[in-house]
Amino acid sequence: MKKIKVTNPIVEINGDEMARIMWDRIKENLILPYLDIKIIYFDLGIKNRDETNDDITKDAARAIKKYQVGIKCATITPDKKRMKEFQLKKIWDSPNATIRNIIHGTIFREPILVKNIQKFIPGWKKPICIARHAYADQYAAKEFSIKEKGNLYFIFLPEKKKSKGLKKIKIHHFQGNGIAMGMFNTDESIYGFARSCFNYSIYKKLPLFLSTKNTILKSYDGRYVDIFDHVYKHEFYQIFKRMNITYEHCLIDDMIAKTIKSDGGFIWACKNYDGDVQSDCIAQGFGSLGMMTSVLLNPDGKIFESEAAHGTVTRHFRSHQKGEKTSTNPVASIFAWTRGLKHRAFLDKNKILEKFSTILEKTCIDLVESGKVTKDLFFYLNKKKECFLDTETFIKELKINLDKKTKSMTIFL
Ligand code: NAP
Ligand code: MG
Repeated sequence: MKKIKVTNPIVEINGDEMARIMWDRIKENLILPYLDIKIIYFDLGIKNRDETNDDITKDAARAIKKYQVGIKCATITPDKKRMKEFQLKKIWDSPNATIRNIIHGTIFREPILVKNIQKFIPGWKKPICIARHAYADQYAAKEFSIKEKGNLYFIFLPEKKKSKGLKKIKIHHFQGNGIAMGMFNTDESIYGFARSCFNYSIYKKLPLFLSTKNTILKSYDGRYVDIFDHVYKHEFYQIFKRMNITYEHCLIDDMIAKTIKSDGGFIWACKNYDGDVQSDCIAQGFGSLGMMTSVLLNPDGKIFESEAAHGTVTRHFRSHQKGEKTSTNPVASIFAWTRGLKHRAFLDKNKILEKFSTILEKTCIDLVESGKVTKDLFFYLNKKKECFLDTETFIKELKINLDKKTKSMTIFL
């Protein structure tokens, strides 16, 4: 088959451990034989991040900004244990956080659905996509313990000398030991979050819900509601109406009840902490982390980075290092490629690339639905006909089926 021409480059980011082993197999078997593509490559393996003082991560993020499409393998987020294991110079930041801080996007997590895998919530027929506002709130809060009697205040000091905006608010009078926390967010970040969500909603042609607890946090969560309303009314209302999709705010408790009762098929914009918790709940509800994709989209909907939602699958890598065969699910990593390529196709109006990406996704879904699965899915199969496949065999089977499916594509070239 003649290779499909991809006019503009994509940025590829390699990672660590078992995810990296799968990544290389996927690229060699399912991508490079079919595409004539220029790849701007960054090795974010932990050793290389350490050797470059993590400059490589920043370079990769800038390259994604420039070329607008990044496709990323899972990477180790170092901690003390990892620092010792790899003799790192320091505990480098999470690459995802560094990239996000440079691109300023929102993360959307969405499950890949297959018919023959039992779901914990049987009613869920369509994907539920969680958008997490990955900025501030609890994750940038200052917190401390209180060890004596005293008063706790909030103080806001305006920068301008003549401003009347000085605020001193009493929070609590402590009679004894306790705990305290102060947190914040910014209008700029919430506006960006809102625009990313509305744009992704259009991209996926799915309705959007925002959840908050604005009945309790009237100013704090209320600000999220006001900003989303404002952006919707002034920037997206007409296009949503034309596309017949909707936006709605819901209280977080109502939203959870609604989600459990629903059949899926919507985007759920969550505040930072809610998104952290809910995305794991939704991933589990749909089956396996090996079937969960993750996409980072910037506010104007143009810069896009995709990856699998899972990590580097260290436990499986340890077996691989011992020479044992593993049965690690590569589907979410393959979808990282297809989703990134689809965005390239969308930006370049490359129909044939869009078609190829869809066929590769369908090849994965068809193989799983035929009962040939990796171990993580095997136990959820409705009918266990055969045994599960190891990683290598699973990818080889995909390649055989992809070859069959793409043969007829020559007519498009
Ligand atoms: P993980 O890599 O997601 O794996 C946790 C467990 O989930 C695995 O041991 C495995 O369960 C199951 N699993 C995940 N992906 C799977 C797949 N594709 N196929 C089959 N089973 C899969 O999380 P972790 O072990 O907590 O973290 C490992 C490393 O990844 C850490 O260093 C962490 O920093 C990093 N991480 C990176 C990212 C990222 O780059 N986006 C995200 C999360 C974590 P069983 O062992 O039961 O088979
Ligand atoms: Mg979490």
